Amino acid sequence: MEIEVKSQSDDEMVFIVRDAEVPFINAIRRCAMVNVPKIAIEDVNIIRNDSAMFNEVLAHRLGLTPLVSDLDALEGLSLPEDDGWEDYSNGIKFQLQEEGPKVVYSKDLISSDSKIKPVYDTIPLVKLKEGEKLNIEAVAKVGYGKEHAKWIPTTVCVYKQYPEITFNEDVEIDYDCAQACPRGILKSDRRSKKIKILDIEDCTMCKSCVRASDNGYINVGFRENDFIFRIETDGAMPPKEVLLKACDVLGEKADKFIKFSDEGGSK
Ligand code: SF4
Repeated sequence: MEIEVKSQSDDEMVFIVRDAEVPFINAIRRCAMVNVPKIAIEDVNIIRNDSAMFNEVLAHRLGLTPLVSDLDALEGLSLPEDDGWEDYSNGIKFQLQEEGPKVVYSKDLISSDSKIKPVYDTIPLVKLKEGEKLNIEAVAKVGYGKEHAKWIPTTVCVYKQYPEITFNEDVEIDYDCAQACPRGILKSDRRSKKIKILDIEDCTMCKSCVRASDNGYINVGFRENDFIFRIETDGAMPPKEVLLKACDVLGEKADKFIKFSDEGGSK
């Protein structure tokens, strides 16, 4: 199996996996979404809320506010499977004390740990009118996406098989089929008498071009064992860390399964 990284930034990564199987790629995708630990606000104690927003909605907004959850931030924090994880006292404390008139933003959340804070400063949480007060204590904990969406580290985690476009040389060149491509991947070049493929990896395999060609000049398929994988995150964790952790988790699961099988499935 080969992996080629096509692009990578703080919150987005695209890579090609060659010579792999669908179940393996899908297992990585699922592990990345639901088995990679991430930090999010779990307990909220609303001492005072004069705003028009219901307490439940405010607590939900706080829970979904992305918090820095990279490897450095996660180090030493207890996981849901550890004893005492549920304790209110066990986690990273946040304070939110504001008075209107103002819009309260994510940057107003004061963390007890300088490493663990909102990823973005400008997420609006609630609007306070003149004289309205807000006094909230919250505790963030490490969790998994399988328990709640706030702990899913990926906002996009998808793959597609590597597209393949072929032309039927036995029929007349159908230049018009290129116009049907909604992504502008195909370009008619009458001078060189061919249709150029500008970026095959951008092809969604929608087959609009195939349907537009009456004589069957163009055909769109895919490579069975090659994949284009895209991971995007909310900025809480770099996509590379999500991928590496997902691979670790999958490896641990495979080891457990092998051990279980070796022991005759007795436990
Ligand atoms: S399958 Fe769709 S995206 Fe791909 S080349 Fe044809 S029209 Fe364009």
